[in-house]
Amino acid sequence: MSHSINNLLKIIRKNNPKADLDLVKLAYEFAEKAHKGQKRLSGEPYITHSIATAETLAKIKADIPTIVAGLLHDVPEDTDVSLKEIEKNFGKEIADLIKGVTKLSNVKYRGIERYVENLKKMFVAAAKDHRVMVIKFADRLHNLKTLKYLPKYKRERIAEESLKIYAPIAGLLGVWHLRWQIEDECFKYLDRKNYEKLKDKYEIKQQKERDELIKTVKKTLSEKTKKENIKYEINGRFKHLYSIWQKMQNKKKKFNEIYDVFAMRIIVDSVSDCYKMLGIIHSIWPPKKDRFKDYISVPKPNGYRTLHTTVFGPKGKLIEFQIRTKQMHDEALYGIASHWRYKNPTQARSSWIDEILRIQKNSKDSKEYIKKLKFDIFQDRIFIFTPKGDVIDLPKDATPVDFAYHVHTEIGNQCTGALVNEKISPLDTKLKNGDMVEIIRDKNRKGPNIDWLKFVKTGSAKDHIKRYAKNKGLIATILKKITH
Ligand code: MN
Repeated sequence: MSHSINNLLKIIRKNNPKADLDLVKLAYEFAEKAHKGQKRLSGEPYITHSIATAETLAKIKADIPTIVAGLLHDVPEDTDVSLKEIEKNFGKEIADLIKGVTKLSNVKYRGIERYVENLKKMFVAAAKDHRVMVIKFADRLHNLKTLKYLPKYKRERIAEESLKIYAPIAGLLGVWHLRWQIEDECFKYLDRKNYEKLKDKYEIKQQKERDELIKTVKKTLSEKTKKENIKYEINGRFKHLYSIWQKMQNKKKKFNEIYDVFAMRIIVDSVSDCYKMLGIIHSIWPPKKDRFKDYISVPKPNGYRTLHTTVFGPKGKLIEFQIRTKQMHDEALYGIASHWRYKNPTQARSSWIDEILRIQKNSKDSKEYIKKLKFDIFQDRIFIFTPKGDVIDLPKDATPVDFAYHVHTEIGNQCTGALVNEKISPLDTKLKNGDMVEIIRDKNRKGPNIDWLKFVKTGSAKDHIKRYAKNKGLIATILKKITH
């Protein structure tokens, strides 16, 4: 794909018609001049990397200062033009963003011992201004896309570093759109054989079937929605290869066993249209029992909102529909990158971001802030991995029960055991940084064990257990009244 200033301006205009394009054009000319004569290893002019980074930022609906900083991000490090000159021309906000990006360039993956240390550096950067991280993700994504021009040993180190450090943090900040792309690029370099195999199965062999299904679904929907006056977009190709691969690994299943359900996404204008669309879909194709999830009235703990339903579609083929508004879509894919667009972001941020912001507000100066940050957050937080590779942050000494409730209330209520780093472990095990935890559930189990209160650490686990105990107490009292 070729990157150009016109293409960049087009993307910005589409997402943000009122944007100040003059500043973007000015930044482009400034960067172009500064990088003049420099080439990427691909042989292309260096400016293509700056534009590609800015294009990615524009696509995830980042604000203008972020996009401008994306264009200029390599200027102070790789050219004779200093940060001071950038500040003089573009102001302190943009200069500070670039300074943050430059500082992060020496964070490298050097084995698991230094992994947490590197994560901390990233989190400090994210805490100061999360836009710095978002620029870094976009920068890294283009470097990954042009990795083939680097020597092999460098390729693997960068891919590994991106998969282990950048991808999980992108997920934590809710920028899933970049996390998935980063993961797929890394997958390609770290496990080419399986990557190619999966790509062939998902993108090539299934494509015809998928395209036909989308066509049929679109046609049927457009007939049924004519009278309803409902506007919508539909898309049927959005799963990414690395997550399919991880699912296959974790569940020890073959592609066809995992991927027997087509997924389609429908984007509408309002919350009421989400439910209207759900009604229309259920009136055309019968829903599969127990597969309807209303994450709009009850969002996931990370703030995710969408309606999910699985139906018996054309020719009895199972289709999962995901129905959401544009805002829900932006929040689900772009996370904090697009937050500025919504005056009342309803999406719950992960708890540590709130904590970081609280500390930032209550600190006298940056020295005190960093000190507090170290003691209040990183000393007392641990990062735990799900089998899918998601990172969940929990307080120190948290147990598998805390983890289970963090993932989902049902999982907490039904947990009977845990695998910690693939070993069966008691539910009161104190988890350590970097542990991978999988919960063993008993679906017949009705509720938590009150004794868990003795060891759980998170407020949310405590609340759920207490609430259950309270309800049970109520039922016992009522039963007593009836029988006596
Ligand atoms: Mn760069």
